[in-house]
Amino acid sequence: MIRVEGLVHRYGDTVAVDGVDLAIDDGECVIVAGANGSGKTTLVRHFNGLLDPDEGTVSVNGRSVADDLVAARTAVAMVFQRPEDQLVAATIGADVAFGPENLGLDRDEIDRRVSESLGAVNLDGREDERVDALSGGEVERLAIAGALAMRPDHLVLDEPFTGLDEPARRSVLARLRDLRAEGTSLVVVTHDLRDVAELADRVVVLADGDVALDAAPDEAADRLPDLDVRPPC
Ligand code: ADP
Repeated sequence: MIRVEGLVHRYGDTVAVDGVDLAIDDGECVIVAGANGSGKTTLVRHFNGLLDPDEGTVSVNGRSVADDLVAARTAVAMVFQRPEDQLVAATIGADVAFGPENLGLDRDEIDRRVSESLGAVNLDGREDERVDALSGGEVERLAIAGALAMRPDHLVLDEPFTGLDEPARRSVLARLRDLRAEGTSLVVVTHDLRDVAELADRVVVLADGDVALDAAPDEAADRLPDLDVRPPC
């Protein structure tokens, strides 16, 4: 579980996250929505210690992230915006193997994780293809596979649809639906609630760095006109 208490994050004079309290249980799928600049990326980067709180605490599975960065990074995997920057190897298979290799796992276990993770995003059998030949949607799916290969408790995706055309968006959404159906814990950051709300147990809407709404998807959809979030199309 991820627990955030009284979290404040400032960039100079800008208060990006302003006293957020939030708990995300194992198995939950939570959408973090809100307008550009509302603090979504800054908030989720605290989940695995990529940023340090100015005030407040973040804990994962009961341990403070600040005290146990390794445990937090093992438990919470992040797929960033611009996933192409997250790729580390020349081929699909090597890219997904990179994380498990760094965990020091044996070859059989690495191979098992690579093929399972690629299967989860419909890239199985394509281990030897070069990453620089992939489309935007395939790169997003590959980054998701790389994160899944770490077997995290929570998978956090920051704006997974940005820059994708409609077929690629549909394909990534379908893979997220599959992961959800298998019980993977997901945190999906988006400024566009179209379709993703249906995946969610909860929608958390940020405004000006704080939680403006934390509700079931139906209620969130009803309240959207009051909030500065792009409505479903
Ligand atoms: P969102 O993900 O909702 O678009 P961000 O967390 O990226 O929001 O940004 C929240 C606020 O913090 C915005 O005002 C943004 O301009 C500011 N901000 C984000 N990153 C930085 C940074 N590296 N340096 C300075 N200000 C930043």
